[in-house]
Amino acid sequence: MGVSSYKSDIQMKIKFTNYDDGVHHFEFLKDIDDLELDNRFFGKLKVKCKLDKSHRQMIIDCDVSFNANLTCDRCITEFKRSYSEHFQNIYFIVYESGEASTDSSGIHYLTPKDDKIDLSEDVTEILKLSLPMKILCSDECEGLCPVCGKDLNKSECDCNTEVENPVWEKLKKLKSNLN
Ligand SMILES: [Zn+2]
Ligand SMILES: [Zn+2]
Repeated sequence: MGVSSYKSDIQMKIKFTNYDDGVHHFEFLKDIDDLELDNRFFGKLKVKCKLDKSHRQMIIDCDVSFNANLTCDRCITEFKRSYSEHFQNIYFIVYESGEASTDSSGIHYLTPKDDKIDLSEDVTEILKLSLPMKILCSDECEGLCPVCGKDLNKSECDCNTEVENPVWEKLKKLKSNLN
């Protein structure tokens, strides 16, 4: 059981044929900018993996940690968020000729000529899915007052924000006319 560290300029690959059956730990540390995914990510991307290897099967569990600089869509406050995501991959080593493949359940099949597993795609996928379309500093964010623009998380204002949407007004009129 050893800890291997790879420098940031090396891809997230593990040459599993170098390791005996058993549990092995790996750690990848990258400058997240190097992945050129989204400029909101900053600092280091850390991937810690546990590989459980046996003769015909390998299970790898990885924890992916990273940070992002975000802007709340409701109150436009900038904030930092730390992420810690997890994924697991299962590999079967198939002693038949053919190409390495992945089935619909996500199980990867390796052939005897494969000697590496590449985690970069899984890590990239996690990063891509981590930032939602709508960014909120918190689910309870009050947003900005539509009248005076004050951040309602910090203080209340005296504006009358009960103004109804003009579209609804029209619909209401329409409805009352029909009645
Ligand atoms: Zn907010
Ligand atoms: Zn206001």
